[in-house]
Amino acid sequence: MSHEIPFLKAPDQAVFRDHLETKVAHWIRQWDGQERLLAGIIGIPLSKSSISLSGASATPAAIRAAFKSFTTYSMEYGVDLQDLAVRDLGDIHMHVTDIAECHRRIEESLRALYKEQPGMIPIIFGGDHSTSCPSLKAFVDRYPGQKVGILHFDAHHDVRNFEDGGVTNGTPFRGILESGVVDGHNIVQIGIRGFMNAKPYHDYVKSKGVQVYTSRDVRRLGMDAVLDQALLHAGDGTEALYVSFDVDVIDQAFAPGCPAIGTGGMNPWDALDALYRLGSLSTVQGLDFVCIDPTIDVRNVTSRLAVQLMLSFLAGVAAR
Ligand code: CA
Repeated sequence: MSHEIPFLKAPDQAVFRDHLETKVAHWIRQWDGQERLLAGIIGIPLSKSSISLSGASATPAAIRAAFKSFTTYSMEYGVDLQDLAVRDLGDIHMHVTDIAECHRRIEESLRALYKEQPGMIPIIFGGDHSTSCPSLKAFVDRYPGQKVGILHFDAHHDVRNFEDGGVTNGTPFRGILESGVVDGHNIVQIGIRGFMNAKPYHDYVKSKGVQVYTSRDVRRLGMDAVLDQALLHAGDGTEALYVSFDVDVIDQAFAPGCPAIGTGGMNPWDALDALYRLGSLSTVQGLDFVCIDPTIDVRNVTSRLAVQLMLSFLAGVAAR
């Protein structure tokens, strides 16, 4: 176009912009393949491995869409995140039909990435929870000869048997425990809820030494007291900690866009505080958010919640 048309802007520029304000979408740019990162966003758009119908593969896109809804500044934590080297690395490309191949790709891709970026904290957005097993296998290999602990926030134990359906979003911790990639004594499950799990699975995790704090425990003891104990277990003899956060740990009133909703779940304030505290600990070196289904969400509130949880974690990282 040879003549400029007054007030006519390109589609991606025709938006209100306050020059004093930095949005998360402006801050978390695409990684250039070179920059050394403090933390990197990685999408894993896989949900064909979900037991119930799930559009969790749409989560990475919904998360990125929510980046424009938040600023980088928090007066609550006294921090502006905009100078932290946090970038978007993109999505791991999934096979269309072969779930085992998808899991293999997750492991291979993350291994290569961790070799390239040895100090980077991965912040992974699933996908469903099946992605956490290959993700953990790659993560543990960053610490050869050393042990890793896991803080697992979830309504469910996620240790279903393999006989009734193979490797699914109901089995990641069965896979982790059976493969021995992480010792059960260094795994803590927080927010597990009644009437959503079968007794054999509770018995199974206890038999493996996993510490379990139910959602009711969190409410009665308080999140800080639960985390005090959880960090002792997960951190006992371990070099690094990984946080796996299934968003269905949050009460259905605040996280309607999860396939497995239920009441009596954790409240967002406890989760925000927990992620800030975990972010502030130098031992916490990896984080994933899983099992959001944006296709059933209401005004993207569940993806927005996950973004706020991520921002609280990064505010903690900034305070290290
Ligand atoms: Ca789960």
